[in-house]
Amino acid sequence: MLKTKILPSTDEAFGYPLLIKRILNDSLKYHPENEIVYRDISRYNYFDLNKRVRKLANVLRVLGIKAGDTVGVLEYDSTRYLELFFAVPMIGAVLHTVNYRLSPEQILYTMNHAEDKIVFTNMDFIPLLKEIKKKLKVKSPCVLMSDTGARPDQDFVISGYYEELMKKASDRYEFADFDEHSVATMFYTTGTTGNPKAVYFTHRQLVLHTIAGAVAFGSYDAVCRFRSNDVYMPITPMFHVHAWGVPYIATLLGVKQVYPGRYEPEMLLKLLLTEKVTFSHCVPTILHMLVSSPVAKAVDLSNWKVVIGGAALPAGLAQAALNLGIDVITGYGMSETCPILSITYLNEKDKEMDVKKQVELRTKTGVPIPLVDMKVVDEQMSELPKDGDSVGEIVVRSPWLTQAYFKEEERSKELWSGGYLHTGDVAFVDKKNFFKITDRIKDVIKTGGEWISSLELEGLISQHEAVSEVAVVGVPDERWSERPYALIVLKEGQKVKESDLKKFLQKFVDNGTINKWAIPSHVDFVAVIPKTSVGKIDKKRIRAEYKK
Ligand code: AMP
Repeated sequence: MLKTKILPSTDEAFGYPLLIKRILNDSLKYHPENEIVYRDISRYNYFDLNKRVRKLANVLRVLGIKAGDTVGVLEYDSTRYLELFFAVPMIGAVLHTVNYRLSPEQILYTMNHAEDKIVFTNMDFIPLLKEIKKKLKVKSPCVLMSDTGARPDQDFVISGYYEELMKKASDRYEFADFDEHSVATMFYTTGTTGNPKAVYFTHRQLVLHTIAGAVAFGSYDAVCRFRSNDVYMPITPMFHVHAWGVPYIATLLGVKQVYPGRYEPEMLLKLLLTEKVTFSHCVPTILHMLVSSPVAKAVDLSNWKVVIGGAALPAGLAQAALNLGIDVITGYGMSETCPILSITYLNEKDKEMDVKKQVELRTKTGVPIPLVDMKVVDEQMSELPKDGDSVGEIVVRSPWLTQAYFKEEERSKELWSGGYLHTGDVAFVDKKNFFKITDRIKDVIKTGGEWISSLELEGLISQHEAVSEVAVVGVPDERWSERPYALIVLKEGQKVKESDLKKFLQKFVDNGTINKWAIPSHVDFVAVIPKTSVGKIDKKRIRAEYKK
């Protein structure tokens, strides 16, 4: 570190730690009367949210939770979850957002590894907790959250009921100041091998991520903005990277928020329309499910802006969304990065360009948001030129990256080797700073000495008019080492033969987009494509289940 001049502070000067409570305080400044809605069940405003967070802090205190303790949460996207997003870190405890879509063994592993001192659970997860309770190391008290007032049978001990505890609690609570480097949140990410790994984020990191996110989505003259007059509804689960941190951005801005509970297509579409939702984010699978639902064609979605992340946005899906008037763009990040690293950037004028060109821009991985130092490097960690062609790994620095995996020294060293966080994503950058991911390192298809991008192939196949969804993986081949294999779900009533698809791809070989080795050797038409716990295409499983 360079030696610089650091001057002393006067005794009573306040250093102002960047704490999550600052975000909640800001929600009262501009539009505190805006509503926060939970399904068709409840609605309140920002005064109520602030009051309920103070009550919840008292509930936590009464239940014996102290600063430094970890609080596990098993819950769908709800206003209760939003309250926990604030109250838990604001008392100095750590919020562990449990991924309820993992297997029971993995959930047990994560709760034991995180050392959860208490569990807040939705009624729906009681059967799961019953199954694992005996093996939980900490015999955590359990607080039940229920929409209907339903209660589990007597053999499952509940320490309290959320709404009853809230009713009894005082709404006065002074949130103390503490070190901004205190851990606020943690959750687990599943890799290709081994146990899930925990990432964790501090107050300072979350506050900076929130501000940079608000600037990135609000300050530049571009499409798909998120501003104070928007109505926000997340469609990526709150357990997964804090729903991309957007609930914190929404609360800072004080916008109207809508929480859909368990994801059900009819409820999502109903809320979208009745609550006049204008801004959401989700993985491609969810957007695909919504745009292909018959209801989507009958309703007006032209005020809806959607950021797609977690996986590449296929061109065919971007086109289908644009046809419905949806303002769709791509965002990029990962569990380890809090998550937002980049978003695509199109200004209002770009909206007039031809749709094909627009789709190309909207499906790019994007330009790094403020404070993100992201580059593409070769194996020696030398930066590659921004020529729109040179392909290498994305490495990154920013103020909000997990500094290690919790209790995983070796994997942490690998993650941060060379002083940059390694994303494991392969990409190129062009001279305008647009990144484009071509694959995960482990998903690149290596065939006869050529590297083929599974994402590029998926993007091309998705443009076939009969194709609804597609996944491409490399499968072992004695002669070529690997060959591309495509799994395709066709649109309803459509019939396509493998040979038709190959003919369609031959056009891209003829115009030089791909080489002839990229045409899949095998294609299977299936009813569903396997998905991971967060709704992404499960390439590991497709490879494992592949039979010649
Ligand atoms: P997760 O940690 O489960 O959120 O997964 C992060 C990974 O998802 C990244 O490392 C990428 O491989 C992938 N991903 C996220 N956003 C995008 C995107 N916009 N385009 C392509 N891949 C993405």
